[in-house]
Parts: sequence; C-alpha cells; structure tokens
Amino acid sequence: MSEIQKLGIIGAGQMGVGIAQVGALAGLDIILNDVTEERIKEGLGHVDANMGKLIERRQIDEATRRAAMERIKPALDQHAFADCDLVLEAAAENEEVKRKIFMNICPLLRKDCMLATNTSSISITRLASVTDRPERFIGIHFMNPVPRMQLVELIRGIATEDTTFEASKQLIKRLGKTAIVSEDFPAFIVNRILLPMINEAIYTLYEGVGTVDAIDTAMRLGANHPMGPLQLADFIGLDTVLAVMQVLHEGLADSKYRPCPLLVKYVEAGWLGRKTQRGFYDYRSGTPIPTR
Ligand code: NAD
Repeated sequence: MSEIQKLGIIGAGQMGVGIAQVGALAGLDIILNDVTEERIKEGLGHVDANMGKLIERRQIDEATRRAAMERIKPALDQHAFADCDLVLEAAAENEEVKRKIFMNICPLLRKDCMLATNTSSISITRLASVTDRPERFIGIHFMNPVPRMQLVELIRGIATEDTTFEASKQLIKRLGKTAIVSEDFPAFIVNRILLPMINEAIYTLYEGVGTVDAIDTAMRLGANHPMGPLQLADFIGLDTVLAVMQVLHEGLADSKYRPCPLLVKYVEAGWLGRKTQRGFYDYRSGTPIPTR
C-alpha cells in the first residue's frame, strides 16, 4: 500500500478543520470540502488563527504556517477529490447524511482511494456497505481538539482489509498521534465510556441535584477532570452528544443509555454549545455564564 499523501476532508467544522491543520503541518496535501464556500472559508480562517496561536507559543514559525496553509486547497466541488489517496468524512453525526455523502462520492474517486469516517458512534460496517469499496473503508476517529489530543481510535469494519488498516496506522504515526484499535460496536471505546458520563451529568442537572457550576466544579476538583462534564458537552457540541447517546440507546437496546430529556430540549432550542455560543453556558459575552 502506497503512502497517503493527498487527503480529502469532507466537512470543515471543528473536526475537519483540526484534521486539515495537523495534516498540512505534517506535509500532506489537503482538499477541504463543505456544503458552502462560506463554511470552507470560515474553516480555513480557524486553521490560520490556530496556527497563529502556535506561532505565539513558538511551536511553529511564520514560514511553516504559510507552507501549511498553501497545502490546504478549498473545494466546494467534490470532483477535486479525484486524485486523493484517502477521503475522510467529518460531516454531521447523522447516518443519513453520511450514507449520502459516501454514495455520491464513490464514482468520483480513484479505484484505489481509501475512505474513512470520523464518526463518533455510527457502525463502520454499515457505512462501508453503501460504498463500492468496503475493503478500503475504515473508521479513523480523532479526538477534539485534534491538534492537542494524542489519541486516534481505529475501527475496522467487517470487510476492512489489512492494507487499509496498515495505511491508516502509518498515517496516524505521521501525524504524531497514537492509535488504539476498537471493535466496531456503538460509540467504540472512548465515547462508550465518556458520553454516558456526560449524559449522567445532564441528568444530575435535570433532577436538580446540582447547578451547572456545582456539577462541573465537582468533577474538576473532585475527580481531577481537566474540564467539567457540562463544559465538555458544550465543547463537543450538544447535537453530537445527543446523536451518540441515540446510537448507544438504539444500538445496545439498554435503557441505561437513554438520552436525558434536558439534552434533547437544548438541542431542540438550537443551543448546541460553543459552536452556537450557547449551551449549558452562554458564551456571548466572552465569559461563560451558566444557563441554569
Ligand atoms: P461540526 O458541526 O462542527 O461540523 C460539521 C461540518 O460538516 C459542518 O461545517 C457542515 O456544514 C458540514 N457538512 C454537513 N453535511 C455535509 C455534506 N453533505 N458535505 C460536506 N460537508 C457537510 O461537527 P464536528 O464537531 O466537526 O463533527 C464532525 C464529525 O466528527 C461528526 O461525525 C462527529 O461525531 C465527529 N467527532 C466530533 C467530535 C467533537 O468533539 N465534536 C470528536 C470526535 C469526532
């Protein structure tokens, strides 16, 4: 299997942008796609700003930033993926959306191009089954924020070939990250453990056991977590948190995974956390203020 040099990314949200940044800094050629030019432009702006912070911290210099930015090519038209070695999907955590993306993209790709999804929870085998290349399909699950988090989960679908797995492992190594392997079960390893904890924190709030501030302080100072669970939920995105809980609930058919009604209410309100400026905290003034 030849090395992955050209990487297509579908979705220029917080994950797609983070992956583009680490990829470009590692010398990969990146094609960054989203549904509108504005989103791609906004995404590129985030990469540029993030690299600015790396310069301030003296982790990279200006020439490195410029070279990395030049390696990221925006592409509204997915025909730009024609020459990619790997196309990685990092769009919304919605199975229908992901299935459509994979079905539409296959005819545009080189026969030997690999496909990956950054899904937090959805079955790799099921997503692979809608493509013309399930043997070249794999789950590559980066953590948020991608530039700072060391771990990547690799998840093989039932048909994933060894060459696909090995090439993915090589890619993770080149990005300076550590890979662990998870079997293809709902939410894999990290989110299978982490998301029910976050959901429980939301139940704790819903039942009035504690305030937002009390719950987050409890877990920061009482369990030494770097972030409180509600702060973390806002950071992940409450739509993603809900989607993962729904996959766990449906996929494992166990009522212990039922999403908290308060989480559902926040998502219905469009209060999705940091990305919409409001979730369990209100970020609009610059200082996060608990919303309950
Ligand atoms: P996000 O909402 O920040 O970004 C998603 C982007 O995908 C948006 O810009 C949207 O316009 C774009 N998109 C939607 N449909 C598209 C399509 N058909 N074609 C091209 N682009 C499309 O979401 P995110 O937090 O970056 O999450 C992306 C994926 O990564 C999800 O599957 C999520 O579960 C997974 N993930 C998220 C986290 C996290 O902490 N947020 C961590 C690991 C994995």
